[in-house]
Amino acid sequence: MKRPSRVAIVGRPNVGKSTLFNRITRQRRALVHPMPGVTRDVQRIETEWAGVAFDLIDTGGLFSGIDDELIQEVEQRAWKEALGADVMIFVTDAEAGVTGTDIDVANRLRQVDGAVFLAVNKSEKGQHAEAEFFELGFERIYAVSALHGQGIGDLLDDVVAQLPQREPSAAEEHLKLALVGRPNVGKSSLANAMIGEDTTIVDSRPGTTRDSIDITMQWHGRAVTLVDTAGLRKKSKSRDGLTSLTAIKSIDAISRADVVVMVLDAPREMANQDVKVASYAHKAGKGLMFCVNKWDLIEDKDNTTVSQFEKRIRGAFRFAPYAPVLFTSALSGQRVSRILEMAWRIKESREVRVSTSDANRFIEGVLAKNPPPSHGGGNGKIYYITQVSVSPPTFACFVNKRAYFDRSYLRFLNNRLRDRYAFEGTVIRIKLSEKERKGAR
Ligand code: GDP
Ligand code: GDP
Repeated sequence: MKRPSRVAIVGRPNVGKSTLFNRITRQRRALVHPMPGVTRDVQRIETEWAGVAFDLIDTGGLFSGIDDELIQEVEQRAWKEALGADVMIFVTDAEAGVTGTDIDVANRLRQVDGAVFLAVNKSEKGQHAEAEFFELGFERIYAVSALHGQGIGDLLDDVVAQLPQREPSAAEEHLKLALVGRPNVGKSSLANAMIGEDTTIVDSRPGTTRDSIDITMQWHGRAVTLVDTAGLRKKSKSRDGLTSLTAIKSIDAISRADVVVMVLDAPREMANQDVKVASYAHKAGKGLMFCVNKWDLIEDKDNTTVSQFEKRIRGAFRFAPYAPVLFTSALSGQRVSRILEMAWRIKESREVRVSTSDANRFIEGVLAKNPPPSHGGGNGKIYYITQVSVSPPTFACFVNKRAYFDRSYLRFLNNRLRDRYAFEGTVIRIKLSEKERKGAR
């Protein structure tokens, strides 16, 4: 399975990037942006031309020229997205002619590796403005009208001819999973059960897992790497800190993983070290899930046993109420297959990109129903929210005053975002920025 190539649409605001994006992807409705021309999220849709599939990216509000930290963060992300593209369509405006910002954009585009196609949009009047645009220094110039669908076919013919055939990229089709937990909880046994053949060493004595090894396997056509750990050995003198070599290795595994599986031993008490390691994964913004292993050893289970365990876990790992819990037995194989299913779900939900217009509509509704309680004589207002990054999902939130938003209200917002966009097994970060803005609601 080949991953589609990427085509990014770049250009200053108002030249018609969204219109072109909609035209190519055949979306009828124009995308609605709450603050047009200020900052917009990146749109990406898989589409095709002449039988060649590619991801089309509208880089949104790049080159707005607005001097604002958060807007620049959004722009930087958009720029990064553009840099990942195989081909760029640089859109300009025939009616406006070459502007200073166009020259800035051109200078930046000259530094990228991919091919650049210069589209002179709004050319439906046949004004032949494209001659003027040669000064920007690109060979491939196309007079188009996104609004009227003129010249788009010629442009796309040449764009797709330029697209490389690529293998799936490592990052998207590849799950990196770290099984962490104390020695003897069953990490190696679980790994073996997942792999379905004996490739790691299992022993009943602590610490027999060799120095960290990574096992890569195919799972329903996708790659999974088990970033192995040697287990967390509690050194007598380490005062519960993460000072032992094995603990450091487990930290190393966490930092290399997308999703961390905290393995607990059902019959044994949870340990402080478990909490520290899980909290490290949480702070690092990794996907997190719990696996209560050796479930076969728990006798006389009744319909409250699961909830009792869950309650204990929630109590010990208060910082991660979002992490799902599985009850497994590496010995019998019970629910072992669910570990990878769950881990993929977590990874995918962490990669979700929420459209800015949808997020704003949603938050508006939430605020209308449940406004922040009055604080210090004022009422909290949210002007604008936008997702600035993924893995973990991170939102920038422009508010009138930070102090009007207390922790419990932020937790409430967090939960609402989680429900709405089905973020699972991952922390959601909300960054508040205090700003009055023009045109804000
Ligand atoms: P973006 O900010 O670059 O994404 O620009 P938009 O797609 O939002 O378009 C900005 C304005 O230009 C809108 O009013 C569009 O209707 C208009 N527009 C886009 N393409 C064309 C075109 O081919 N011809 C004309 N005349 N107007 C266009
Ligand atoms: P690790 O140190 O965390 O990698 O743990 P191992 O996978 O080496 O397992 C330690 C011991 O627990 C071994 O004797 C395993 O056979 C046993 N074990 C692992 N998983 C289970 C399980 O689900 N049920 C039972 N009863 N024993 C298990």
